[in-house]
Amino acid sequence: MSQQALNLGIEEPPQAEEAGARVQVLLPLPLAGPLDYRVPDGMANQLEPGAVVEVPLSGRKAIGVVWPKNTSGKASGKTLPLKKLKPVERIIDVPPFGTDLTRFVDWVSAYTLSSQGAVLRMCLSVPAAFGDVPVKRHYACASVLPDGIRMTPAREAVLKVLADGKPRMAPEIASLAGVSDGVVRGLADAGALVALDISVDQPYPQPDTNLKGPKLSGEQTEAAEAIRGAVWEGGFKPFLLDGITGSGKTEVYFEGLAEALQEKGTQVLVLVPEIALTSQWLERFEARFGVTPVVWHSEVGQAERRRAWRAVATGDARVVVGARSALFLPFKKLAFITVDEEHDPSFKQEEGVLYHARDMAVVRAMQAGCPVVLASATPSLETQVNADEGKYQVLKLRERHGVAVLPEMRAVDMRAEPPEAGTWLSPILVREIEETLAAGEQVMLFLNRRGYAPLTLCRTCGHRIECPSCSAWLVEHRFRQELQCHHCGHMEPIPEACPTCESKESLVACGPGVERLFEEVTRRFSEARTSVMTSDTMMSPSQTAAVVKEIAGGHLDIVIGTQIVTKGYHFPNLTLVGVVDADLGLRGGDLRAGERTYQQLVQVAGRAGRAEKPGKVLLQSYEPEHPVVQALLTGDGDAFMAAEKAARAQYHMPPYGKLVAIILSGPEMAEVLEVGRALAKVAPVEHGVDIVGPAPAPMVRIRGQHRFRMLLHAKKHIKVQQLVRNWVLRVKPKSSVRIKVDIDPYSFM
Ligand code: ADP
Ligand code: ZN
Ligand code: ZN
Repeated sequence: MSQQALNLGIEEPPQAEEAGARVQVLLPLPLAGPLDYRVPDGMANQLEPGAVVEVPLSGRKAIGVVWPKNTSGKASGKTLPLKKLKPVERIIDVPPFGTDLTRFVDWVSAYTLSSQGAVLRMCLSVPAAFGDVPVKRHYACASVLPDGIRMTPAREAVLKVLADGKPRMAPEIASLAGVSDGVVRGLADAGALVALDISVDQPYPQPDTNLKGPKLSGEQTEAAEAIRGAVWEGGFKPFLLDGITGSGKTEVYFEGLAEALQEKGTQVLVLVPEIALTSQWLERFEARFGVTPVVWHSEVGQAERRRAWRAVATGDARVVVGARSALFLPFKKLAFITVDEEHDPSFKQEEGVLYHARDMAVVRAMQAGCPVVLASATPSLETQVNADEGKYQVLKLRERHGVAVLPEMRAVDMRAEPPEAGTWLSPILVREIEETLAAGEQVMLFLNRRGYAPLTLCRTCGHRIECPSCSAWLVEHRFRQELQCHHCGHMEPIPEACPTCESKESLVACGPGVERLFEEVTRRFSEARTSVMTSDTMMSPSQTAAVVKEIAGGHLDIVIGTQIVTKGYHFPNLTLVGVVDADLGLRGGDLRAGERTYQQLVQVAGRAGRAEKPGKVLLQSYEPEHPVVQALLTGDGDAFMAAEKAARAQYHMPPYGKLVAIILSGPEMAEVLEVGRALAKVAPVEHGVDIVGPAPAPMVRIRGQHRFRMLLHAKKHIKVQQLVRNWVLRVKPKSSVRIKVDIDPYSFM
């Protein structure tokens, strides 16, 4: 994302509309800009821009937001005369959206070529927040007892319980007083108790900014001071916090949080990759600020979402830690943003509005006028280039905290040291595991493949078991006794005979997944306590927390995991990390395959030797001379990234040039291809712009949809949004064919 694009509009004071005037209301619907409505008499001068309102919409009611007039969006179609406009129905009792948020919505819409309505939908994702908040009836003592009230020991017990002044619900009072609910109600009827209907949404406890963090080292202090200074000063300022794993980045950005929270009513947002939102992180936060933060991600239940959304809007929620969608919460007074693990590929949203949360966090900070810290041990190439160009201030942490040092790295050349047939661990790695276990220390084995085996093949006829609706193999999950498609979720039992030639006992599992590795490990190290950590085995945050506790507490010896184990955990007794297939991410590589594999392996390696005991990392590779493996061995990530940058610069690849992917899909292959050809025919011909395709996507079919891709490649100065919008609008596809535009694509599948 280019910095020029980040320019702000001119601030205009919001003005509420008079009765009878026209207001624009943006509704959370795709394909819609703001629509015109009339201000009814009763709402004169109350409908300020940003107000959340209910309006009539083709016979039903919809929630929308009064949209500022000076923005790019304009209602489609002709302007209706005032008297034909429907009136706004009511104003919802939540604080209006600030201009920082309405502008952010406009910005994301313009950048991603999504409708404003589709972006707004992400801000209004909690319908329950706009209804009445349920209340529960509580009772408290009346200020004076009514004259002549008959007292009994039971009644006296109730009054005694409530003597502290705290309102309580009838069952609680009854149980504390040892009486029946009826006694409580009787007292209320007699006028001795007053009933209070209290919202079920309790306010969030406020963080304590007087607690002190740990004593920071020299370089940590320097980084923390820079961030604190920027937060104190206010105003947009982006930082790259580039520190090796275990160097204390979290402690450093906590200082920024602490500074931001000093001021009354300010709010902070910490974005993390969804799976990095660990119990360990939350415990550290609680230790530092005395409360748990508001947590926001897809697993949070409806009631809690309503409570959180409203509290963010009123400013009552001071700290939000969340996955990418937290960017679209209606903060009242956002004072600081951190994006932790900023390089993480999961920040790119691949459905609906295709945006990159790291980039958009910088835009959000700019609109809110606050500092933003992008933290990582392996900053993305895009961020590094922004830092090189002086757009981001770089804060470096070069040392691990305390006596911990970075682990020793070694490659195992699998051509010279192959594992025995049907096994996946080389003799060297097996020996290292033995020694580590003998020393009473822990081992982590990393293999980024869920299930037992990625492919099931018939030995007789060569048939491969595929998903019925995707061009993908089904993955065997032996723990669950199923075959599963990792693209659409389709599941079926493992067949006894080959579906094609019907041979019995002819199906073989090919290649390893973590479950198969588990089989090998438990066979080789039958005494060791071994566990598998994947998104299949750890369905809930509490399950994850339990396993993490077991590892940290030394109740497990070997952990086998997918990328879920790479994120941010701190296990002091873990000293050996074995990367079972260091080449895995490099195969079939796209633009960022090398960079991503490097980042992932640095993160896994970073789990080893985080405390007093030094760590060791073994990388099993069939190509140890590959630059990624070499960069890990030499520890010279800078040189590796410099080579990556040079290569991208030479070919004008992002961020030195621009890419836009156009993905066409539909149930009929011929129709999809037809739209592709039509697009190719009217493709823009312009110097510095190349277009390839339509070509069948590498995943030609997902969920029964046939897929073709086109890729637009442009020199950096070209305004691709305008170009692509004009281009795509020239083709009117059949309604069965979907055209998806992906600005800055990360997936090329
Ligand atoms: P990173 O986020 O860079 O991987 P962390 O912030 O998780 O690093 O720090 C690694 C470990 O070192 C954590 O357990 C953290 O509490 C500890 N730590 C870091 N800095 C300090 C410090 N100055 N004093 C005490 N403990 C520290
Ligand atoms: Zn067969
Ligand atoms: Zn499928």
